[in-house]
Amino acid sequence: MSNLYIEKAEENILHTYNRYQIVFDHGEGVHLYDVDGKEYLDFAAGIAVQSLGYGHKEYTQALKDQIDKLTHISNLFYTVPMMEAAEKVIKASGMEKVFFTNSGTEAIEGALKAARKYAYERDGEANHEIIAMEHSFHGRSLGALSVTGNEKYQIPFRPLIPGIRFAKYNDLESVKSQITDKTCAIILETVQGEGGVYPVTEAFLKGVKALCEEHDLLLILDEIQCGMGRTGYMFAWQEYGVEPDIMTCAKAIGCGVPVGAFVLGKKAAESSLKAGDHGTTYGGNPFVCAAVSKVFDLYEKEKILDNVRAVGAYLTERLDGLVEKYDFLKERRGKGMIQGIEVEGRPVGEIINRCLENGLVLITAGSNVLRFVPPLIITKEDVDCMVEKLERSF
Ligand SMILES: *Cc1c(COP(=O)(O)O)cnc(C)c1O
Repeated sequence: MSNLYIEKAEENILHTYNRYQIVFDHGEGVHLYDVDGKEYLDFAAGIAVQSLGYGHKEYTQALKDQIDKLTHISNLFYTVPMMEAAEKVIKASGMEKVFFTNSGTEAIEGALKAARKYAYERDGEANHEIIAMEHSFHGRSLGALSVTGNEKYQIPFRPLIPGIRFAKYNDLESVKSQITDKTCAIILETVQGEGGVYPVTEAFLKGVKALCEEHDLLLILDEIQCGMGRTGYMFAWQEYGVEPDIMTCAKAIGCGVPVGAFVLGKKAAESSLKAGDHGTTYGGNPFVCAAVSKVFDLYEKEKILDNVRAVGAYLTERLDGLVEKYDFLKERRGKGMIQGIEVEGRPVGEIINRCLENGLVLITAGSNVLRFVPPLIITKEDVDCMVEKLERSF
Protein backbone atom coordinates (compact mmCIF):
# COMPACT_ATOMS: atom_id res chain seq x y z
CA MET A 1 0.00 0.00 0.00
CA SER A 2 2.61 2.51 1.05
CA ASN A 3 4.25 2.81 -2.38
CA LEU A 4 0.93 3.84 -3.83
CA TYR A 5 0.44 6.52 -1.17
CA ILE A 6 3.97 7.80 -1.64
CA GLU A 7 3.53 8.04 -5.39
CA LYS A 8 0.25 9.89 -4.98
CA ALA A 9 1.73 12.27 -2.43
CA GLU A 10 4.73 13.08 -4.61
CA GLU A 11 2.40 13.79 -7.49
CA ASN A 12 0.85 16.72 -5.63
CA ILE A 13 3.09 17.88 -2.81
CA LEU A 14 5.90 20.30 -3.55
CA HIS A 15 9.09 18.33 -3.20
CA THR A 16 10.97 20.34 -0.57
CA TYR A 17 11.77 17.27 1.51
CA ASN A 18 13.54 14.05 0.62
CA ARG A 19 11.27 11.96 2.80
CA TYR A 20 11.97 8.52 4.17
CA GLN A 21 9.86 5.97 2.32
CA ILE A 22 7.41 5.28 5.13
CA VAL A 23 3.75 6.19 5.48
CA PHE A 24 2.88 6.45 9.16
CA ASP A 25 -0.59 5.71 10.37
CA HIS A 26 -0.77 5.97 14.15
CA GLY A 27 1.22 5.94 17.35
CA GLU A 28 0.96 4.61 20.86
CA GLY A 29 3.33 5.68 23.63
CA VAL A 30 6.85 5.57 22.20
CA HIS A 31 5.86 3.44 19.22
CA LEU A 32 4.72 4.33 15.73
CA TYR A 33 2.93 2.12 13.22
CA ASP A 34 3.00 2.48 9.44
CA VAL A 35 0.10 1.74 7.11
CA ASP A 36 1.32 -1.85 6.73
CA GLY A 37 1.17 -2.36 10.49
CA LYS A 38 4.93 -2.41 11.04
CA GLU A 39 6.01 -1.17 14.49
CA TYR A 40 8.78 1.36 15.07
CA LEU A 41 10.44 2.53 18.26
CA ASP A 42 10.49 6.31 17.97
CA PHE A 43 13.61 8.24 18.98
CA ALA A 44 12.77 11.31 16.92
CA ALA A 45 9.43 12.44 18.38
CA GLY A 46 8.46 14.25 15.18
CA ILE A 47 11.63 16.37 15.60
CA ALA A 48 11.51 16.91 19.37
CA VAL A 49 7.78 17.61 19.41
CA GLN A 50 5.98 14.58 20.84
CA SER A 51 7.39 14.77 24.38
CA LEU A 52 4.43 12.93 25.88
CA GLY A 53 4.54 10.21 23.25
CA TYR A 54 1.64 9.28 21.01
CA GLY A 55 -2.01 8.66 21.78
CA HIS A 56 -1.80 10.11 25.30
CA LYS A 57 -5.38 9.69 26.52
CA GLU A 58 -5.62 12.68 28.85
CA TYR A 59 -3.97 14.93 26.28
CA THR A 60 -6.14 13.85 23.36
CA GLN A 61 -9.27 14.08 25.54
CA ALA A 62 -8.45 17.68 26.42
CA LEU A 63 -8.14 18.48 22.72
CA LYS A 64 -11.39 16.71 21.86
CA ASP A 65 -13.22 18.58 24.60
CA GLN A 66 -11.90 21.90 23.32
CA ILE A 67 -12.81 21.07 19.71
CA ASP A 68 -16.38 20.54 20.84
CA LYS A 69 -16.43 23.94 22.54
CA LEU A 70 -14.45 26.35 20.36
CA THR A 71 -11.35 26.07 18.20
CA HIS A 72 -10.88 29.63 17.01
CA ILE A 73 -12.18 33.09 17.78
CA SER A 74 -9.27 35.44 16.79
CA ASN A 75 -7.14 37.59 19.02
CA LEU A 76 -9.77 40.30 19.13
CA PHE A 77 -11.27 38.44 22.10
CA TYR A 78 -10.21 36.56 25.22
CA THR A 79 -10.59 32.84 25.90
CA VAL A 80 -10.08 30.77 29.03
CA PRO A 81 -7.49 28.39 27.45
CA MET A 82 -5.42 31.42 26.35
CA MET A 83 -5.46 32.75 29.89
CA GLU A 84 -4.53 29.35 31.36
CA ALA A 85 -1.77 28.58 28.86
CA ALA A 86 -0.20 32.01 29.33
CA GLU A 87 -0.24 31.68 33.11
CA LYS A 88 1.58 28.33 32.91
CA VAL A 89 4.25 29.59 30.49
CA ILE A 90 4.93 32.60 32.71
CA LYS A 91 5.02 30.52 35.89
CA ALA A 92 7.39 27.92 34.37
CA SER A 93 9.76 30.53 32.93
CA GLY A 94 9.59 33.19 35.63
CA MET A 95 9.41 35.73 32.80
CA GLU A 96 6.85 38.49 32.25
CA LYS A 97 4.75 38.25 29.09
CA VAL A 98 4.03 35.73 26.35
CA PHE A 99 2.85 36.01 22.76
CA PHE A 100 1.60 32.79 21.13
CA THR A 101 2.50 32.01 17.52
CA ASN A 102 1.77 29.15 15.11
CA SER A 103 5.33 27.89 14.76
CA GLY A 104 8.89 28.24 15.91
CA THR A 105 9.79 30.37 12.94
CA GLU A 106 7.09 32.86 13.85
CA ALA A 107 8.29 32.92 17.44
CA ILE A 108 11.70 33.95 16.08
CA GLU A 109 10.13 36.63 13.89
CA GLY A 110 8.36 38.05 16.93
CA ALA A 111 11.53 37.95 19.00
CA LEU A 112 13.48 39.82 16.31
CA LYS A 113 10.77 42.46 16.04
CA ALA A 114 10.59 42.86 19.81
CA ALA A 115 14.37 43.35 19.94
CA ARG A 116 14.35 45.96 17.20
CA LYS A 117 11.42 47.75 18.79
CA TYR A 118 13.18 47.78 22.15
CA ALA A 119 16.20 49.48 20.60
CA TYR A 120 14.00 51.84 18.64
CA GLU A 121 12.29 52.95 21.85
CA ARG A 122 15.66 53.33 23.52
CA ASP A 123 17.45 55.28 20.78
CA GLY A 124 14.55 56.98 19.02
CA GLU A 125 15.76 55.60 15.71
CA ALA A 126 15.79 52.32 13.80
CA ASN A 127 18.49 50.43 11.81
CA HIS A 128 19.73 48.15 14.56
CA GLU A 129 21.88 45.06 14.22
CA ILE A 130 21.50 41.59 15.64
CA ILE A 131 24.29 39.12 16.34
CA ALA A 132 23.53 35.48 15.52
CA MET A 133 25.67 32.34 15.65
CA GLU A 134 27.33 30.26 12.97
CA HIS A 135 25.72 26.82 12.47
CA SER A 136 22.54 28.04 14.10
CA PHE A 137 19.03 27.19 12.98
CA HIS A 138 16.10 29.49 13.65
CA GLY A 139 13.66 28.77 10.82
CA ARG A 140 12.90 29.27 7.15
CA SER A 141 10.98 32.53 6.81
CA LEU A 142 13.08 35.45 5.60
CA GLY A 143 13.65 36.96 9.04
CA ALA A 144 14.40 33.66 10.78
CA LEU A 145 16.54 32.59 7.82
CA SER A 146 18.52 35.81 8.14
CA VAL A 147 19.74 34.76 11.60
CA THR A 148 20.28 31.14 10.57
CA GLY A 149 24.01 30.59 10.18
CA ASN A 150 23.86 28.25 7.21
CA GLU A 151 24.83 29.58 3.78
CA LYS A 152 23.26 26.65 1.98
CA TYR A 153 19.84 27.70 3.25
CA GLN A 154 20.45 31.41 2.70
CA ILE A 155 22.14 31.97 -0.66
CA PRO A 156 19.21 31.55 -3.10
CA PHE A 157 17.01 33.86 -1.05
CA ARG A 158 19.24 36.91 -0.69
CA PRO A 159 18.91 39.74 0.01
CA LEU A 160 17.84 38.75 3.51
CA ILE A 161 17.12 41.26 6.25
CA PRO A 162 20.08 43.58 6.74
CA GLY A 163 21.97 44.19 9.96
CA ILE A 164 22.75 40.60 10.91
CA ARG A 165 26.28 39.72 11.99
CA PHE A 166 27.50 36.21 12.71
CA ALA A 167 29.76 35.13 15.54
CA LYS A 168 31.23 31.79 16.54
CA TYR A 169 29.13 29.77 18.97
CA ASN A 170 30.82 29.25 22.34
CA ASP A 171 33.47 31.85 21.46
CA LEU A 172 32.99 34.98 23.51
CA GLU A 173 35.75 36.98 21.79
CA SER A 174 34.04 36.37 18.47
CA VAL A 175 30.76 37.76 19.83
CA LYS A 176 32.55 40.76 21.35
CA SER A 177 34.16 41.57 18.02
CA GLN A 178 30.73 41.83 16.35
CA ILE A 179 29.23 44.32 18.80
CA THR A 180 28.81 47.83 17.40
CA ASP A 181 26.91 50.87 18.62
CA LYS A 182 24.03 49.63 16.46
CA THR A 183 23.69 46.17 18.05
CA CYS A 184 20.36 45.53 19.74
CA ALA A 185 20.35 41.80 20.46
CA ILE A 186 22.27 38.54 20.50
CA ILE A 187 20.39 35.42 19.49
CA LEU A 188 21.46 31.84 20.13
CA GLU A 189 20.13 28.36 20.81
CA THR A 190 20.85 27.18 24.34
CA VAL A 191 21.63 23.84 22.70
CA GLN A 192 22.20 24.05 18.96
CA GLY A 193 19.96 21.39 17.43
CA GLU A 194 19.92 21.24 13.64
CA GLY A 195 23.51 22.46 13.49
CA GLY A 196 24.74 19.20 15.00
CA VAL A 197 23.74 19.14 18.70
CA TYR A 198 26.14 21.52 20.43
CA PRO A 199 25.26 22.61 23.98
CA VAL A 200 26.22 26.09 25.04
CA THR A 201 29.06 26.29 27.55
CA GLU A 202 28.26 27.89 30.86
CA ALA A 203 31.13 30.36 30.53
CA PHE A 204 29.94 31.46 27.09
CA LEU A 205 26.31 31.89 28.12
CA LYS A 206 27.26 33.86 31.22
CA GLY A 207 29.73 35.90 29.17
CA VAL A 208 27.11 36.75 26.56
CA LYS A 209 24.66 37.72 29.30
CA ALA A 210 27.28 40.03 30.81
CA LEU A 211 27.92 41.62 27.40
CA CYS A 212 24.19 42.17 26.99
CA GLU A 213 23.99 43.91 30.35
CA GLU A 214 27.08 46.00 29.67
CA HIS A 215 25.85 47.22 26.25
CA ASP A 216 22.09 47.20 26.94
CA LEU A 217 21.43 44.45 24.39
CA LEU A 218 18.68 41.86 24.57
CA LEU A 219 19.65 38.23 24.97
CA ILE A 220 17.37 36.06 22.84
CA LEU A 221 17.54 32.35 23.67
CA ASP A 222 15.99 29.99 21.15
CA GLU A 223 14.55 27.14 23.24
CA ILE A 224 12.37 25.80 20.45
CA GLN A 225 14.15 22.44 20.34
CA CYS A 226 16.07 22.23 23.61
CA GLY A 227 13.35 23.68 25.84
CA MET A 228 10.27 22.06 27.36
CA GLY A 229 12.22 19.65 29.53
CA ARG A 230 14.52 18.10 26.98
CA THR A 231 17.71 18.85 28.94
CA GLY A 232 16.18 17.93 32.30
CA TYR A 233 15.19 21.56 32.98
CA MET A 234 11.93 23.02 31.76
CA PHE A 235 14.03 25.53 29.83
CA ALA A 236 17.65 24.74 29.13
CA TRP A 237 18.86 28.16 30.38
CA GLN A 238 17.49 27.39 33.84
CA GLU A 239 20.39 24.99 34.40
CA TYR A 240 22.75 27.99 34.28
CA GLY A 241 20.52 30.56 35.93
CA VAL A 242 20.98 32.85 32.93
CA GLU A 243 17.58 34.33 32.15
CA PRO A 244 17.11 35.58 28.61
CA ASP A 245 15.40 38.87 27.80
CA ILE A 246 13.42 37.01 25.15
CA MET A 247 12.88 33.28 24.84
CA THR A 248 11.38 31.45 21.89
CA CYS A 249 9.46 28.18 22.28
CA ALA A 250 7.62 25.83 19.94
CA LYS A 251 7.93 22.12 19.12
CA ALA A 252 7.11 20.33 22.40
CA ILE A 253 5.15 23.23 23.90
CA GLY A 254 2.05 21.88 22.13
CA CYS A 255 3.13 18.23 21.79
CA GLY A 256 1.74 17.96 18.29
CA VAL A 257 -0.48 20.96 17.62
CA PRO A 258 1.09 23.87 15.74
CA VAL A 259 1.93 26.41 18.41
CA GLY A 260 4.94 28.45 19.42
CA ALA A 261 5.57 31.39 21.69
CA PHE A 262 7.96 34.19 22.38
CA VAL A 263 8.29 35.13 25.99
CA LEU A 264 9.57 38.48 27.21
CA GLY A 265 11.46 39.28 30.39
CA LYS A 266 10.87 42.50 32.30
CA LYS A 267 13.04 44.76 30.16
CA ALA A 268 11.57 43.67 26.84
CA ALA A 269 8.03 43.42 28.19
CA GLU A 270 8.08 46.99 29.45
CA SER A 271 9.51 48.57 26.37
CA SER A 272 9.06 46.83 23.04
CA LEU A 273 5.94 45.63 21.24
CA LYS A 274 2.82 47.67 21.92
CA ALA A 275 -0.77 47.44 20.68
CA GLY A 276 -0.70 47.40 16.89
CA ASP A 277 2.97 46.37 16.60
CA HIS A 278 2.42 42.66 16.06
CA GLY A 279 -0.37 40.21 15.39
CA THR A 280 -1.55 36.82 14.17
CA THR A 281 -4.94 35.43 13.24
CA TYR A 282 -4.54 31.89 14.52
CA GLY A 283 -1.80 32.39 17.09
CA GLY A 284 -2.83 31.25 20.57
CA ASN A 285 -6.31 30.15 19.61
CA PRO A 286 -8.29 28.16 22.20
CA PHE A 287 -7.54 24.84 20.51
CA VAL A 288 -3.75 25.11 20.65
CA CYS A 289 -3.83 26.81 24.05
CA ALA A 290 -5.86 23.93 25.49
CA ALA A 291 -2.99 21.72 24.32
CA VAL A 292 -0.29 23.95 25.81
CA SER A 293 -2.16 24.14 29.08
CA LYS A 294 -2.59 20.35 29.27
CA VAL A 295 1.06 19.79 28.34
CA PHE A 296 2.25 21.81 31.34
CA ASP A 297 -0.17 19.94 33.63
CA LEU A 298 0.99 16.57 32.36
CA TYR A 299 4.68 17.46 32.69
CA GLU A 300 4.03 18.06 36.37
CA LYS A 301 1.71 15.12 36.93
CA GLU A 302 3.99 12.64 35.16
CA LYS A 303 7.22 14.10 36.56
CA ILE A 304 8.65 14.45 33.07
CA LEU A 305 11.75 16.36 34.21
CA ASP A 306 12.66 13.59 36.68
CA ASN A 307 12.35 11.04 33.91
CA VAL A 308 14.55 13.08 31.57
CA ARG A 309 17.23 13.35 34.24
CA ALA A 310 17.17 9.65 35.16
CA VAL A 311 16.72 8.08 31.74
CA GLY A 312 18.72 10.86 30.04
CA ALA A 313 21.72 9.92 32.18
CA TYR A 314 21.29 6.31 31.13
CA LEU A 315 20.97 7.31 27.47
CA THR A 316 24.19 9.32 27.79
CA GLU A 317 25.96 6.32 29.30
CA ARG A 318 24.78 3.93 26.57
CA LEU A 319 25.68 6.36 23.77
CA ASP A 320 29.13 6.90 25.28
CA GLY A 321 29.49 3.12 25.26
CA LEU A 322 28.74 3.04 21.54
CA VAL A 323 31.26 5.79 20.78
CA GLU A 324 33.87 3.77 22.66
CA LYS A 325 33.00 0.60 20.81
CA TYR A 326 32.81 1.79 17.19
CA ASP A 327 35.65 3.60 15.43
CA PHE A 328 33.37 5.43 13.00
CA LEU A 329 31.51 7.07 15.90
CA LYS A 330 33.59 10.14 16.74
CA GLU A 331 31.90 11.94 19.58
CA ARG A 332 28.71 12.14 21.62
CA ARG A 333 27.32 15.61 22.34
CA GLY A 334 24.26 16.93 24.10
CA LYS A 335 22.49 16.44 27.37
CA GLY A 336 19.43 14.70 28.74
CA MET A 337 17.25 13.77 25.81
CA ILE A 338 18.81 15.97 23.17
CA GLN A 339 21.86 14.02 22.08
CA GLY A 340 23.94 13.61 18.96
CA ILE A 341 26.67 11.27 17.83
CA GLU A 342 29.05 12.48 15.16
CA VAL A 343 29.73 9.87 12.50
CA GLU A 344 32.86 9.73 10.35
CA GLY A 345 33.40 7.81 7.14
CA ARG A 346 29.87 6.46 6.81
CA PRO A 347 26.86 8.32 5.38
CA VAL A 348 24.42 8.93 8.24
CA GLY A 349 21.48 8.73 5.83
CA GLU A 350 22.33 5.11 5.16
CA ILE A 351 22.48 4.32 8.87
CA ILE A 352 19.08 5.94 9.34
CA ASN A 353 17.60 3.86 6.53
CA ARG A 354 18.96 0.69 8.14
CA CYS A 355 17.47 1.79 11.46
CA LEU A 356 14.08 2.29 9.83
CA GLU A 357 14.31 -1.21 8.33
CA ASN A 358 15.00 -2.47 11.83
CA GLY A 359 12.05 -0.59 13.27
CA LEU A 360 13.82 2.39 14.81
CA VAL A 361 13.06 6.00 13.94
CA LEU A 362 16.14 8.21 14.20
CA ILE A 363 16.96 11.47 12.45
CA THR A 364 20.10 13.37 11.54
CA ALA A 365 21.43 16.76 12.56
CA GLY A 366 23.78 18.63 10.26
CA SER A 367 25.41 16.42 7.64
CA ASN A 368 27.08 13.80 9.82
CA VAL A 369 25.31 13.54 13.15
CA LEU A 370 22.82 10.98 14.42
CA ARG A 371 20.28 12.83 16.52
CA PHE A 372 18.43 11.38 19.49
CA VAL A 373 15.39 13.43 20.54
CA PRO A 374 12.95 10.80 21.80
CA PRO A 375 9.64 11.33 23.56
CA LEU A 376 10.53 12.36 27.12
CA ILE A 377 8.59 9.40 28.53
CA ILE A 378 11.04 6.73 27.36
CA THR A 379 12.27 4.14 29.87
CA LYS A 380 15.68 2.52 30.30
CA GLU A 381 14.26 -0.52 28.51
CA ASP A 382 13.43 1.68 25.51
CA VAL A 383 17.02 2.94 25.53
CA ASP A 384 18.31 -0.65 25.56
CA CYS A 385 15.95 -1.57 22.74
CA MET A 386 17.09 1.46 20.73
CA VAL A 387 20.77 0.60 21.22
CA GLU A 388 20.13 -2.99 20.17
CA LYS A 389 18.38 -1.86 16.96
CA LEU A 390 21.04 0.75 16.27
CA GLU A 391 23.90 -1.73 16.65
CA ARG A 392 22.09 -4.13 14.35
CA SER A 393 21.84 -1.29 11.83
CA PHE A 394 25.59 -0.57 12.01
C1 LIG B 1 12.57 23.76 14.66
C2 LIG B 1 13.30 24.95 15.07
C3 LIG B 1 12.91 26.23 14.66
C4 LIG B 1 11.79 26.46 13.68
O1 LIG B 1 10.57 26.01 14.17
P1 LIG B 1 9.36 25.72 13.15
O2 LIG B 1 8.23 25.33 14.06
O3 LIG B 1 9.82 24.62 12.25
O4 LIG B 1 9.06 26.95 12.42
C5 LIG B 1 13.60 27.31 15.16
N1 LIG B 1 14.61 27.16 16.03
C6 LIG B 1 15.02 25.94 16.45
C7 LIG B 1 16.12 25.84 17.43
C8 LIG B 1 14.39 24.80 15.98
O5 LIG B 1 14.82 23.61 16.36
